[in-house]
Amino acid sequence: MSKAIVSSLYDSDVFRMACRQFDQAADAINLPDAIRDRTKYPRRCLAVALPIKRQDGSVTVFEGYRVQHNLSTGPSKGGIRFHLDVTLGEVAALAMWMSWKCSLVGLPFGGAKGGVIVDPHQLSESELEHLSRRYMQEVINFVGPHSDVPAPDVGTNEKIMGWMMDTYSNHVGHVEPAVVTGKPISLGGSQGRHESTGFGVAYVVQKYLDDLNIPIKEATVAIQGFGNVGQHTALALANYGAKIIGVSDISGGVYNERGIDVKKALEYMRTQKVIRDFDGGEAITKEQLFPLKCTVFVPAALERAITAENAPLLQCRMLAEGANGPTTNEADKIIEDRGDIEVIPDTLCNTGGVIVSYFEWLQNLSNYYWDRDEVMRKLFALLDKAKDAVEAQKRKYKFSRRLAAQTIGIQRVADAKQSRGLFP
Ligand code: NAD
Repeated sequence: MSKAIVSSLYDSDVFRMACRQFDQAADAINLPDAIRDRTKYPRRCLAVALPIKRQDGSVTVFEGYRVQHNLSTGPSKGGIRFHLDVTLGEVAALAMWMSWKCSLVGLPFGGAKGGVIVDPHQLSESELEHLSRRYMQEVINFVGPHSDVPAPDVGTNEKIMGWMMDTYSNHVGHVEPAVVTGKPISLGGSQGRHESTGFGVAYVVQKYLDDLNIPIKEATVAIQGFGNVGQHTALALANYGAKIIGVSDISGGVYNERGIDVKKALEYMRTQKVIRDFDGGEAITKEQLFPLKCTVFVPAALERAITAENAPLLQCRMLAEGANGPTTNEADKIIEDRGDIEVIPDTLCNTGGVIVSYFEWLQNLSNYYWDRDEVMRKLFALLDKAKDAVEAQKRKYKFSRRLAAQTIGIQRVADAKQSRGLFP
């Protein structure tokens, strides 16, 4: 019998959600009790206090975390989130999902995640730099090219990764680009990393539309969240010929049945930062996006966005999870029972980011840089392989697509742990 002695450290809705998903997957593949809990729970975590001198001379102490879920097959890998709702439990859940995702794609990484409780938009540029550098300074002995490699996530970007890489490099006394991915190209960032998650989402979506015999040019798309992932998903799907009929972000949404001009929307976002008042369509609320009749709905904001309340309202043929953990377990059940929506789970759908992060890490370690075509070709090849593996698992065991993706990821991590043995 499984007898985990686990503290309530991570306890939260989102951590319980990730644990429930793990339990279902572990049951489905009869994962032996002896391996369950150590495959399920994070290996270790660090909480740090980050005092920052503000521009008015005052000092604010921010709180940050780094959770490493699995280190059995290589360094752990996962983004750093700057957001006011960050909790240790959320970071732990996101670290778990990173483990299954890396494992599904066959990357030699375990999962990790980091976060700071802060609204980065309320900081000046220099305050943001101090916070980013301070975070790296505080976790400096916890991360490294061969132990844990951070990347951008919600609220962080290339510039922040550049500051973190610089802080780490100054500490070790030599340039160490492989300590973070998602860096500016000038510091060893990879071609294609910036757009990789969204372009990967779009690639997977068009492949699945193909399977359903839906011509991409007839597809309509609604996207929740118009940041890095949402914007690049919109751009790539529009380039494939789909019509983006609705987008939303934290400020509200916009709807245009004739199709939003994505390039104009991106231009607007560059200066205005939020989609509200964009004149390329009719203004809608964030909530009005869910019931839009469309071929593909892409949640690309935060976790737990599709709930028991709005899942029955969805009028899409496909739910393509750009965000991590966007669908609660209750909503997942409702969608499964409805049976009319193809779910492309996060573990498969948004892996483009970590795949190109892996390419960036490889390029940094070998000091040999690839051109964009090579990056994209290799990205799409790995996505095809992961999709084929998920579909084979789904067919073989009659699993849902989410269960198929998660069982592959979890089984591989468990196998690696089993092979290494229980130390000491
Ligand atoms: P981002 O900060 O660039 O964008 C987040 C977007 O979500 C913003 O437009 C924000 O306004 C919007 N948003 C927040 N709350 C919302 C709400 N209630 N309703 C509508 N919109 C809301 O972040 P990102 O990097 O695009 O990440 C988005 C999601 O994708 C996250 O779940 C993240 O973990 C996941 N993800 C990101 C990457 C990556 O490479 N950046 C990789 C894989 C997965």
